[in-house]
Amino acid sequence: MIALATNEPLGHVAQGRAVLAGLSKRFVGGNDLDDAVETARRLKASDRLASLFFLGEYVSDNRVVARTVREYEAAAPALAAAGLDVHVSVDPTAIGSLLGGYIWRDNALQIARAVASAGKGLPADRVVMMLDMEDSSVTDATISMYEELRAAGLPAAVTLQAYLHRYEPHIRRCVVPGGRIRLVKGALAEPAEKAATSRDEIDRRFRVATELMLAPAVRESGFYPIFATHDVSMIRHIRAIARRNGWEPGAYEFEMLYGVRPRLQERLATVERLRLYVPFGEAWWPYAVRRVGEYPRNVALLARALVGSK
Ligand SMILES: Cc1cc2nc3c(=O)[nH]c(=O)nc-3n(C[C@H](O)[C@H](O)[C@H](O)COP(=O)(O)OP(=O)(O)OC[C@H]3O[C@@H](n4cnc5c(N)ncnc54)[C@H](O)[C@@H]3O)c2cc1C
Repeated sequence: MIALATNEPLGHVAQGRAVLAGLSKRFVGGNDLDDAVETARRLKASDRLASLFFLGEYVSDNRVVARTVREYEAAAPALAAAGLDVHVSVDPTAIGSLLGGYIWRDNALQIARAVASAGKGLPADRVVMMLDMEDSSVTDATISMYEELRAAGLPAAVTLQAYLHRYEPHIRRCVVPGGRIRLVKGALAEPAEKAATSRDEIDRRFRVATELMLAPAVRESGFYPIFATHDVSMIRHIRAIARRNGWEPGAYEFEMLYGVRPRLQERLATVERLRLYVPFGEAWWPYAVRRVGEYPRNVALLARALVGSK
């Protein structure tokens, strides 16, 4: 799946094929910003909030990086104008982290300022530039960028991965007054010296991280925990710890990926705050193939799409 996702010529062909639209439609919220805002508006009608993500990752072309920054600068006011949360998710490698330190720093600041400006007057938990977390070579740089944005008074949040061996120091470092962490299990193929590979161990770490993020002392500090998972046993655990430690629904939130477990999303949204990660743009192939790889039953979806495209 990683080979398929990173095969640029194949991705190029696939993205141009109308017959593959079924695959992209399942996981992607729209071809452009207007479509994505419309998707977010539709989701809001069923109590699901959105975080928009402009598709593209591991970008080494300056022009693509600049275009990505412009898309986010346009997304922030468009979300505000539609009466939606000004909430975007950003991959460091999509905004220039591969091009050198100062470029992505400037771009991150620019996007965070656009988000802050568009979200003026909205509650803090509804105005967020979320930094996604990519492979372990960029973990420290991403956490440092999150800290720098926060020190500048900008509305940043960061994603932390439970599968990393260093997950606990990462969580302890970022659970600070006014901080915001999105906890995930971790999606990249990391070597055994960097991350756990057994499902049980990853789940154990996710539970430990949950307890740290929902500790009673943390509740009073203005920290905002975000749990991104479709795993029902993790969701049960999070809700139980939250109840035990006096967290009210809405003082923390759940996130899921657009197109994944829609019925579970509908049910959870009736009792908890739920946000969906809504990707948009033309470069959907690597993202959609990664989603297929996460869940073997999706392979049938990919196979149908590929056979149909011949
Ligand atoms: C909002 C959000 C943001 C994320 N950001 C990052 C990030 O920045 N960095 C990172 O490394 N990872 C990120 N992830 C991915 C994450 O690390 C996991 O790979 C992914 O969420 C699957 O783990 P899970 O907790 O849902 O548990 P799992 O145990 O993998 O899945 C639980 C159940 O959910 C269902 N399911 C899960 N994935 C799929 C799928 N693709 N299609 C259909 N069903 C599925 C299956 O029924 C599965 O049994 C993000 C996930 C979410 C929801």
